[in-house]
Amino acid sequence: MLNLILFGPPGAGKGTQSEKIIARYNLIHLSTGDLLRSEIQAGSELGLRAKTLMDQGLLVPDEVVIGMIDHKLRDHRDAAGFIFDGFPRTVKQSEALDELLATYDQSISVMIALVVDDSELLSRLLNRGKTSGRPDDQNEELISKRIHEYNSKTKPVADYYQQQGKFVPIEGIGEIETIFAEINKAIDSVTSK
Ligand code: ADP
Repeated sequence: MLNLILFGPPGAGKGTQSEKIIARYNLIHLSTGDLLRSEIQAGSELGLRAKTLMDQGLLVPDEVVIGMIDHKLRDHRDAAGFIFDGFPRTVKQSEALDELLATYDQSISVMIALVVDDSELLSRLLNRGKTSGRPDDQNEELISKRIHEYNSKTKPVADYYQQQGKFVPIEGIGEIETIFAEINKAIDSVTSK
């Protein structure tokens, strides 16, 4: 199985690249942001609670997203592999993911991190806000808050996988196809081991 974490700050291009990776490697896409937005759309209690935090640019509690991932892993026991997008976002989520995968005799194969500087992120997200309809992309203060949450809570997740020898940084500025080619190289070097 190929279990890949696509890592990077909001606006790094994870959504764009994950679509291409899924098509090529036949993986199941697990995006906690998408799962949370579905809950909001469905008007569930979980969605209502998550929305209050998401609207402030804050992370939702670890237990909530870990529970969602747990369910999805159970739903797809026969998958060829998973791509985790926007998860794990805290070290606690990373530890929980490792434990969940271990119950299936699985582990993370590689973490691919898209590297983009903060000023580029801000302009990309403001641009996306014009068309995405996502309320959290339409306000500069909120975007800065999300980038701040990323820098304080999520960056340590990279160190966690670096210590396991699984961290591969990739330049996230440039042509989409060039970035994808670099990602392919990183994945292929893991799968050919
Ligand atoms: P982006 O990374 O572009 O901000 P996402 O769709 O990944 O977009 O996430 C949107 C929001 O959903 C986050 O700002 C956060 O509030 C919440 N969220 C998504 N994934 C997680 C997670 N793993 N842990 C906590 N909160 C999350």
